[in-house]
Amino acid sequence: MLPTHETNRCPERQPVDRDPSNRVMPASATADESGSRRLAQQRPLKYTLCVTLRCNLTCSYCYVGKSGATMSLAMAAKILDFIFWNASPGRAIEIGFFGGEPLLEFPLIEAISDLIASHPGRQRREVGLTLTTNGTLFSTAIADYLKASGVKFCVSCDGPPHVQNMFRRTLEGRDTAAVVEDNLRLARLSLPAVLVNAVYGPKTFRHLPETVDYFSGLGLRQIYLNPDFSAPWTETEAKALPEIYRAIGERYISWYLAGDPHFVSLIDSKIAVLLRGGYHPAERCQMGRGEMAFTPDGGIYPCERLIGSGVGEANRIGHVDRGLDLSRLSWRLATCGQANPECVDCSLRVCCMNWCGCSNAFMTGYYNRVGPFLCASERAAVQTAFEVFTVLGKRLGPVFLHHLAGAPQLNSRLPQGSGMGKPTAASVNSAVADFETPQADKQTTMRGPP
Ligand code: SF4
Ligand code: SF4
Ligand code: SF4
Repeated sequence: MLPTHETNRCPERQPVDRDPSNRVMPASATADESGSRRLAQQRPLKYTLCVTLRCNLTCSYCYVGKSGATMSLAMAAKILDFIFWNASPGRAIEIGFFGGEPLLEFPLIEAISDLIASHPGRQRREVGLTLTTNGTLFSTAIADYLKASGVKFCVSCDGPPHVQNMFRRTLEGRDTAAVVEDNLRLARLSLPAVLVNAVYGPKTFRHLPETVDYFSGLGLRQIYLNPDFSAPWTETEAKALPEIYRAIGERYISWYLAGDPHFVSLIDSKIAVLLRGGYHPAERCQMGRGEMAFTPDGGIYPCERLIGSGVGEANRIGHVDRGLDLSRLSWRLATCGQANPECVDCSLRVCCMNWCGCSNAFMTGYYNRVGPFLCASERAAVQTAFEVFTVLGKRLGPVFLHHLAGAPQLNSRLPQGSGMGKPTAASVNSAVADFETPQADKQTTMRGPP
């Protein structure tokens, strides 16, 4: 039995490393570390504005502590000052509108967007906006705003009606599938791109292949799949994961071969990592450094998934009025799954997201202790990505070269005459050999967190 959510409480406090030398890169950084630092400098800084903790849904796996708290425009202005005056000059920034349900405060979002557009600190800096919504609220006015402001639009939807309605219901207990599907269709017709994010848990993960088919049928081509790490996963489900992920991989391959590639996060992100020989240190968890979230009252959190109710001291690392509390910046604990002895010798270590602090905290209560479900999921995801890469590489050549940069784009096949050169059997075989069955050399079995 894997740990259940009853045992998965986040700790009130994490031990803090007070040695400043552990928080900065030493002067004698290796070439790899220097490259990593360059990569870190190229990555956009990510900020999430939790504009309201209100929501019109009551999803059973929700990790947001909902309340009536809503950000004032004056507080948003302070947060933007904090962001723009503290971010390294010239560094790209991504600002996400989040909630609760952010579109309950659509006029506020428009007003904040105007503040962002006119902020003096944004000069000569690339600024991207995203909005994550539950998909129940959409209108022509919202579509016009999203287009005019170039906002990336991401809808949370768990899949076809019988899956969506299982956990994503209104405050009154009503189904949401019909309205979300209507809005997805409308959004797809009105916007250049619509991202969709499905959360899966022990009761829904077997529907994942059907879920990606459903999204594909709606014309959606950017599909994000995220497990509910706080759910009571058991060994039975962990054992079934490879088959489910493989079924998604088969669909991915057939869409690709049909000339209609889909971006599926589970596969594309791992192919990118395989191609680059693992996650660079700078790509790992950026919580509290390259990534922060702000609550309606101006509280600062290391990651939006750790906001909780947005009050109290657990996980809070500062306030825009007082700045960051360095002693609370316990991000370093999330740099690796070092607390798990199984990870130390694992051959998949470099390709594993065992450093995602909030996923670990949801599973085990500690930022740096990996839960068995994440271990099983990462193994299955790497295996699936490897199989997809191998099949498509052999059939089509080096189609994933654009993944090398670490940010898989819209997963387009290399255009004809792109100058990439026709792949040879030798080049494909050599690429495949580099990643030859990564887990074959050493099988480690995770028995649970220490
Ligand atoms: S829509 Fe989002 S914020 Fe609202 S209940 Fe569902 S998961 Fe929570
Ligand atoms: S696959 Fe499992 S054992 Fe290997 S690094 Fe990841 S969490 Fe650790
Ligand atoms: S804790 Fe996980 S989700 Fe949050 S910033 Fe780190 S890697 Fe990203």
